[in-house]
Amino acid sequence: NSLRIAFFGIGNMGGPMARNLIKAGHQVSVFDLSDSLVAQLVEAGARAGGSAEGTVESADVVISMLPSAAAVANLYQGANDLLSVIDAKALIIDCSTIDAATTRQMAAAAAERGRTLIDAPVSGGVGGAEAGTLTFICGGPAAAVEQARPILAAMGRNIFHAGDHGAGQIAKICNNMLLAIHMLGTCEALQLGVDNGLDPAVLSDIMLASSGRNWSLEVYNPWPGVMETAPASRNYQGGFAVDLMLKDLGLALENVLAVRGNAPLGTLAKNLYGLHAARGNGRLDFSSIQQILGRDPQ
Ligand code: NAD
Repeated sequence: NSLRIAFFGIGNMGGPMARNLIKAGHQVSVFDLSDSLVAQLVEAGARAGGSAEGTVESADVVISMLPSAAAVANLYQGANDLLSVIDAKALIIDCSTIDAATTRQMAAAAAERGRTLIDAPVSGGVGGAEAGTLTFICGGPAAAVEQARPILAAMGRNIFHAGDHGAGQIAKICNNMLLAIHMLGTCEALQLGVDNGLDPAVLSDIMLASSGRNWSLEVYNPWPGVMETAPASRNYQGGFAVDLMLKDLGLALENVLAVRGNAPLGTLAKNLYGLHAARGNGRLDFSSIQQILGRDPQ
């Protein structure tokens, strides 16, 4: 069932996601601030939207994958009031990781105009986007999430309905706060073992078969050379930037404050990733946090 899909933000994640929609037979029109990214997608079969209005013209579905809440709000609620320009029957799916309050406010503004906007942030990284195996974490009415399901299935393997508007964003920041913490814990354990003369690969195998097992050990080992496919084995290039992890920890801790909660480990993790970024490592993969433990991991 071929749909007309408007796609905003075709960077590291949005680019491969839009390609998978084209491969699934949809007619995709794209918009990005980068002309060269647009040209690459046109080569892959997309239409260049030219402007925000031109991109959403006669679209059945509108998808955004942008770097910040400001960019998303500016797209939908900027001077051109794009929410009113988008066809009233079209479904709007924001896949960016942004704060839940902005998502809820935008969903309400869309509803006032008779449109439906859901949040559907993703997990799985650039590799998952390329392979079409992302996890989508949706927030919004069940009917809208069901409507989105076959479209998201062209880009991902797991599609969850976390709850009402904003719930997808909340679940996403819970997950990324936990990821930040278990990556740090994994780094500490590996450092302690190596300081005692253990082989980090042997120790990793032992912990993988023991109660310390976690995703960072399974697919993202932070010690260089232990796992060929992990960013640690290519000087922490590519992957998920420290700066993006820091943004997500900031979103999590703003929310902790808003609900008068406590997240001592999340707070510590944000401070440590912040320190690492301040030392000039913001663009490295987040598993490079191994390096703050005081010894050269090589
Ligand atoms: P990116 O910087 O590679 O891509 C963002 C793209 O949006 C860029 O090409 C930029 O030119 C474009 N853009 C910015 N403002 C725009 C606007 N107003 N209109 C149109 N295009 C605009 O970032 P990314 O890594 O693709 O991340 C995008 C989102 O996905 C972020 O919210 C991020 O937190 C989230 N995310 C990233 C990963 C990852 O591993 N990289 C994983 C999960 C979620």
